[in-house]
Amino acid sequence: MPFFIEVILPLSLPKPFTYAINEAEYGFIKKGMRVAVPFGRNKIYTGMVTDLHQNPPQLYQAKEIHQILDDFPIVTETQLKHWGWIASYYMCNIGDVYKSAMPSGFLLESETLITSKKDFDVSDIQLSDDEYLVYEALQKQSALKVQEVSAILNKKATLPVINKLIAKNAISLQEEINEKYKPKTIRYIRMPQELMQQDKLSGLMELLSRSQKQRDSVMYYFQLQARDKKPISKKQFTEESGVSSAVIKSLVDKGVFEEYILEEDRIQFEKDDNSGFELSDKQQEAFESVKQSFDTYQVTLLHGITSSGKTEIYIKLIEEFIKNGKQVLYLLPEIALTTQLVVRLTAYFGNQVAVFHSKYSNNERIETWQQVLEDSEKARVIIGARSALFLPFNDLGLIVIDEEHEQTFKQQDPAPRYHARDAAIVLAGMYDAKVLLGSATPGIETYYNATGGKYGYVQLTERYGKVLPPEIVLVDIKDKYKRKRMTGHFSDTLNEAIAEALSEGRQVILFQNRRGYSPWVECMTCGHVPQCPQCDVSLTYYKFKNQLRCHYCGYNIANPTHCHQCHSTDLSTKGFGTEQIEMELKGLFPAKNVWRMDQDTTRGKFGYEKIIDAFKNREIDILVGTQMLAKGLHFDNVSLVGILNADNMLYQPDFRAFERAYQMMVQVAGRAGRKDVRGKVLIQTYNPLHNIIQQVTNNDYPAMYKEQVYERHNFKYPPFYRLIRLTLKQRDYEKLKNGALWLYNVLSENLNLPVLGPEEPAISRIRNEYIRTIMIKLPQGNSIGGTKRAIVKILDSFDAIPQYKSIRVSVNVDPY
Ligand code: ADP
Ligand code: ZN
Ligand code: ZN
Repeated sequence: MPFFIEVILPLSLPKPFTYAINEAEYGFIKKGMRVAVPFGRNKIYTGMVTDLHQNPPQLYQAKEIHQILDDFPIVTETQLKHWGWIASYYMCNIGDVYKSAMPSGFLLESETLITSKKDFDVSDIQLSDDEYLVYEALQKQSALKVQEVSAILNKKATLPVINKLIAKNAISLQEEINEKYKPKTIRYIRMPQELMQQDKLSGLMELLSRSQKQRDSVMYYFQLQARDKKPISKKQFTEESGVSSAVIKSLVDKGVFEEYILEEDRIQFEKDDNSGFELSDKQQEAFESVKQSFDTYQVTLLHGITSSGKTEIYIKLIEEFIKNGKQVLYLLPEIALTTQLVVRLTAYFGNQVAVFHSKYSNNERIETWQQVLEDSEKARVIIGARSALFLPFNDLGLIVIDEEHEQTFKQQDPAPRYHARDAAIVLAGMYDAKVLLGSATPGIETYYNATGGKYGYVQLTERYGKVLPPEIVLVDIKDKYKRKRMTGHFSDTLNEAIAEALSEGRQVILFQNRRGYSPWVECMTCGHVPQCPQCDVSLTYYKFKNQLRCHYCGYNIANPTHCHQCHSTDLSTKGFGTEQIEMELKGLFPAKNVWRMDQDTTRGKFGYEKIIDAFKNREIDILVGTQMLAKGLHFDNVSLVGILNADNMLYQPDFRAFERAYQMMVQVAGRAGRKDVRGKVLIQTYNPLHNIIQQVTNNDYPAMYKEQVYERHNFKYPPFYRLIRLTLKQRDYEKLKNGALWLYNVLSENLNLPVLGPEEPAISRIRNEYIRTIMIKLPQGNSIGGTKRAIVKILDSFDAIPQYKSIRVSVNVDPY
């Protein structure tokens, strides 16, 4: 009797393949183990076993497997079920889900390149004979393929050897990111404890009586100490007090001050005994309501204004779940946000916190994977961006989804194009776990579910410490321009408010939702605007680099000195981005430190953290940035937030544009005035009477919701209709146009549903590929499964038409 297994391959294939095994293997293999299997010509892949059976495949002769790679399952049956749900709901191939769910270190294939690590020292670490052979080979040649390793070792079981070498840090895989963050050390000063006693102080002042400067310096130290109640960095001290380093040095020599050094991330991973806290009355009430709500609902929305202390409620809740032996998943929209949260959670929970996201090395990810699988004490709480959803939980009790409205929870490309919030809710259902969604500005769909009785709903309307919500002031820039009250892009009102905040020793955040110096350049003689030759967009001007760049494909040229159309030299920049604002600020406040935070300044693994650290340490006075600034960051010393131009957020061709503009503005505004000061927010706009601007000003979420949900209902959008967007791409314009029309016609004839398009999107060509989209709208409650099957069938027949075969179609369910 033959024996078979079903195996998912890490390729974009819709179904598992059947492989033959022998009886002994049949007794050993379990679902969730990996096997190395041949596929195609001479290629070996790491496949995942999803089933065992005795039915030979009908259409092909089952091949034999090469190797069994695991001793026990590394993926649970619940995970396999969840993958299946994702593939079917988001209409993608199971192979795509498998590939993106597993850390790539688990998916070695015969083509994966192995390279040696430069800083590995063989004299430090014991290697087995096999490991040494591989190491030795890598000293002679820069890279090896898995197959070659197999030849060197003369056996099939190469993966255990490779994995051990990875664990020993001797080799790395080609796809690994090798950047290293050098922890930043910061120099602080403090006064020795024994000097701080009352009876010593007068003696101290006497000792310093001959130097006015030294005395002032000590007085200033006391003031700062009283004001900030936190470690004083040397840099902050010299900058704010104007005391020179020479004076500090002589005080250190006298033993009045001492210097000490802290490593930023060293502090972060230590449990802090002072991290305990009590919930305020309002928080306690909300905490109890959430627990009560969990009795009735699987999912609950915690709608708490910015700075209301939602994180503290999550922490207390997590504590209860892990006390009961449960695992907790804490999802964040953005990897960049993890650092701050990890600091807060590790301070409280110590080593029970693990972090998992795609910027961690393979090594680190595999380690966390194993900890979660073993239900280890080291991984009770997992913090991560959306990929953490795919960890092998076995006793998941709670999923917290922070900033649940963020669109980055939705994966855009490649497939699976899943929404981590929605996929998490389904996952929680499989474990009978609870879900807490948190936001100050919930997504329309979420609020609809929460007020419609599908989710529980808990509100928190007071900032922690009863700090007042920021005062929001609108600045009508049309009027300001008319009265000539603008300097560059700064109104006199904004300018004065910045000066005032800075004079009080506060920091300022300025928001502009575009990067570069200006989004386009225009010839003032003939009106020509330089375009990207490969994409349908204008080129963005970068002044510092004196370049024009395409934001979609990276194409760039030196800034032209004359128009390429008419040779006129009268070229003008139009619109403005963060680089221009940064430059203007340097002119307006030359003595201040101005930094910029956008995609251009935060490249690299820790680019973002470096800026955040510097801002936290008050090395930056004014931070200019894009929407990156809007994401749940906490800075205690920011008293002013300025939005330079609210209008370009409002006019985007997207049914979510108004919702997003509202969320963005309220979130950026929320960065102002945390802890002890009331913040101020200045919004510059041409449309101070626009409903969204008014709703932001009044912090009136319900009004925003009511208006948007009315529109959504009228125009057949979520939450009333589900959307499925098909995107077609092809380099040949005519072929694409005809193909899109064919597909549109067949869909609308067969589906008996609203089908829109085929539409040319706002950017209708990227990297020389033309783009068309078709949108299908499904009324809520319709059998979505049947419709999806019908769509897949139509797509299959589309694919079978020879002249359209080369058109790439991607499917996006619930596009964001
Ligand atoms: P949110 O996430 O709702 O915007 P946070 O949870 O970050 O708000 O809280 C805002 C600030 O208030 C943080 O600096 C936090 O440390 C502080 N805070 C909130 N609740 C408490 C509490 N119960 N005890 C001490 N500090 C708190
Ligand atoms: Zn011209
Ligand atoms: Zn381009």
